[in-house]
Amino acid sequence: MYDTDAPLIATRALSAGYGSQPVVRDLDIEVRPGEVVALLGPNGAGKTTTLRALAGSLTPMHGEVRWLGEPGRAPLHRRARQGLAYVGERAVFTRLDTADNLRVGRVKTQQALELFPELEKRLKTGAGMLSGGEQQMLSLARALCRAPKLLLADELSLGLAPLVVDRLLRAVREAADRGLGALLVEQHVRKVLDIADRVYVLHRGRVTMTGTPQELGGHLDAIESSYLAEKTTQETTYATD
Ligand code: ATP
Repeated sequence: MYDTDAPLIATRALSAGYGSQPVVRDLDIEVRPGEVVALLGPNGAGKTTTLRALAGSLTPMHGEVRWLGEPGRAPLHRRARQGLAYVGERAVFTRLDTADNLRVGRVKTQQALELFPELEKRLKTGAGMLSGGEQQMLSLARALCRAPKLLLADELSLGLAPLVVDRLLRAVREAADRGLGALLVEQHVRKVLDIADRVYVLHRGRVTMTGTPQELGGHLDAIESSYLAEKTTQETTYATD
C-alpha cells in the first residue's frame, strides 16, 4: 500500500538529456502530497528537460525516477492514468471550443466553471480565439478537475498579465491545500515564491540551491540576476554565431 505522506515522485542522481549528452545531472528532487514546489532557473538551465524526465516523456540516462514509490520508466500516458498531470505550453485543442475541450478532457463543465468562472462566457468560443490567460485557465481546468495526484506545470504564466498569473497560481495553491503535489517551473520568481512550500534552483543542469522561500529570500536578487547574466551570455553567444 502506498504511504500517503511519501513522495509522489522522487529522483535519485537523475541525469537526462538528448542524444548522448546529459542536460541535467545528479538531480535529487521530490514532491510530496500537499506541497507546491517551484523549479527555478535561467533559460537553458534544464527545467523543461527535468519535467519531461519526471513525466516519463524522456528516458533517464542515469539514476532513477520513483513514481508513487516505484522505480520505473513508465511513459507519460501510463503515469497520466495513475494521476500525473502535465501542463506544457497552452495545452488546448485550438480547433475545438472551450466546452468541447473540457468534454474531450473528460472534465465536467460545472466543475471547471467552479474553478474558473471566467470561462463561462467563453464556452462556445474556439480555444484558439481565447486570450492567453483564458487558454491557460482552460489547460489548468482540464488538468486539475481530473483530481490528479501530481501536477507538473511548465511556465503556466508565460506572457500573462500579473493578475491572471495570480489567479492561476492561487488555483494551484488551493488544489495543493486539498492534497495535490505540484512542481511548477516559473519565470515569475517572486509570485511563485508567494505560494510555494519549497524551491529548487537549477543552473546549468544542476541543483545549486534548495530550501523554503524564507530560506531563499535573502538570495532572490542573486537568483534573478543569474537569469539576466545567463540571458546576456546566450545573447552574446548567438551574436557571435
Ligand atoms: P527555457 O526556459 O529556455 O525553456 P529550460 O531551463 O527549460 O529553459 P531546457 O528546455 O530543458 O531548459 O533546455 C536545456 C538545454 O537542452 C538547452 O541547451 C536546450 O537547447 C537543450 N534542448 C532542449 N530540448 C532539446 C531537444 N529536443 N534536443 C536537443 N537539445 C535540446
